[in-house]
Amino acid sequence: MKRLLFSPWLLLALLLALLSCGNIGQKKRAEFVSATAVREASYAGQTPRFQALLYYSDYVEEAHRQFTHQAISFFDKLTVGDGWILEADTTLLGKGDLAQYDVIIMPDVHPGTPEERTLFEHYIEHGGGWLGFHAAAYNDLSTGWDWFRDFLGGGRFLCNTWPPQPALLEVETQDHDITKNLPEEFVCPSSEFYQWQPDPRLNPDIEVLVSLSPKNFPMGLKDVVFGGDFPVVWTNTRYRMVYLNMGHGDECFSDATQNLLIINALRWVVSRSPSGNPFER
Ligand code: ZN
Repeated sequence: MKRLLFSPWLLLALLLALLSCGNIGQKKRAEFVSATAVREASYAGQTPRFQALLYYSDYVEEAHRQFTHQAISFFDKLTVGDGWILEADTTLLGKGDLAQYDVIIMPDVHPGTPEERTLFEHYIEHGGGWLGFHAAAYNDLSTGWDWFRDFLGGGRFLCNTWPPQPALLEVETQDHDITKNLPEEFVCPSSEFYQWQPDPRLNPDIEVLVSLSPKNFPMGLKDVVFGGDFPVVWTNTRYRMVYLNMGHGDECFSDATQNLLIINALRWVVSRSPSGNPFER
């Protein structure tokens, strides 16, 4: 016991304890100083990497309006740190050259007037990027825009699942930047799913990335679907575009896997910008 009291180890322990007390004091002072000098974090470089226009309408059915405004919040949150610029507007007119936008995002609506349709066609045909959701692709015999139907792969709206509900999605390939980090299957949040005629999958320019799993069938409580092909996410390889069929109601951004899919799709479209990949600058 006597030897322990005067051992070098005890002296070292006392020294460490004293130093520790000093550190605690320093930490408290450091916290106090930082609390009085709060400043905004800077996450990005000097200039935003890219610019996006989100084209929307409030004159749509309520579930599509809900998705639209959640989409605006979702994408706006991703601009934190001024990494990129998001402009949301209800018109394509009066903006000068649309080529200033690396991507145009359309949650649940597409251009309806001849002037806007002409502007959009010119933009896309000259390398413009598009990320469209759900009813943005809706077209039937009354739509009167053949170019847009071809852009989507040639399909007209045929039928839909009802009511909106979660569904098991099948990731058809992981050999693509949009799906490489996704599981082979996942249950997506509640949405309404469309079927198209002819099936866009039959078009050799269309690459289907995600579809409704056959395990869902029979699906629906009102409109019951017993089978068939329901492509959910695809790209037309002739253009810089991705279409995602989800986009109905207020639950679409509640799932991490689906949110990752959406961010991957945005990043992929933007990364193929004719002016170069902005993520490599
Ligand atoms: Zn819908």
